[in-house]
Amino acid sequence: MTQPEVSPNVQSDGSGVLAGQIALVTGASSGIGRAIAIGLAQAGADVVVNYVANEDEASEVVRVVEAIGRRGLAVRADVGQEAQVQEMFGRTDDVFGRLDILVNNAGLQRDASFTDMTLADWDTVLRVNLTGQFLCSREAMRRFKTQERRPQVSRAAGKIICVSSVHEKIAWAGHANYAASKGGVLMMMQSLAQEAAPFGIRVNSIAPGAIRTPINREAWETDEAYAELMKLVPYGRIGEPEDIAAAAVWLASDASDYVVATTLFVDGGMTNYPAFAHGG
Ligand code: NAD
Repeated sequence: MTQPEVSPNVQSDGSGVLAGQIALVTGASSGIGRAIAIGLAQAGADVVVNYVANEDEASEVVRVVEAIGRRGLAVRADVGQEAQVQEMFGRTDDVFGRLDILVNNAGLQRDASFTDMTLADWDTVLRVNLTGQFLCSREAMRRFKTQERRPQVSRAAGKIICVSSVHEKIAWAGHANYAASKGGVLMMMQSLAQEAAPFGIRVNSIAPGAIRTPINREAWETDEAYAELMKLVPYGRIGEPEDIAAAAVWLASDASDYVVATTLFVDGGMTNYPAFAHGG
């Protein structure tokens, strides 16, 4: 494969590195997805803001994207439903004409002890967290492989960023469905990355640790819960959605052009075996 020229959009101050690119972020009406959508817009991208339920929150994210000076589009779709995913990507084609960046962020939890976990709890989490990433990645790949390459905008033909979790690595009693879905994301991401790289397409994951969002409110809302959480975080603070957005901008940009099939842990050291800090 002939190497495209270095993109002129990699600037020393990090601004505008995604200028002229179209991004789609799933589950972007709240939490990490919201911050990623805004972060990508601040870096110069136009953004499709996917949501499944809360249209008002999604419209508000679009307003923020537009206030930054980028184009935004809210599209309702359940990422676990093939027809809805295909419609969403079709809408993106119609409005923006192409796609450069997919962020597979949508996810949920249905926690229960193993013996109390219903098949519905299991199916719902696998359907959204893993099948949803498959369906969206497949649509993105089809476009990345066929659309015109623009090496002056980005060296890669397309970028997929899967939002995984430290629980692709750390077992989690009471959350077997969630941990299994994120373990599945690891192998899906690496297998897809292997297949995609020869086409100049980069696929990577971000594995967040404890991030302050609605999904884990009970883990940070009270002082007692926060103190308990900090026993697992050597860096001594909870992560903010913007910590993940910064990683997503980097993984989407040419600054990470040689990064393929990697999981970037953004977790304040949570996966660095904090229990071993004092003996062990
Ligand atoms: P969140 O609940 O704010 O965000 C999840 C988003 O996904 C919501 O907007 C929700 O509406 C959307 N969603 C759920 N089902 C959907 C579906 N079927 N189709 C489309 N969208 C759907 O929580 P968050 O913490 O921002 O989570 C974002 C991602 O980060 C998830 O994949 C989660 O597993 C991952 N994550 C979060 C943390 C954390 O500590 N917050 C840690 C590790 C990984």
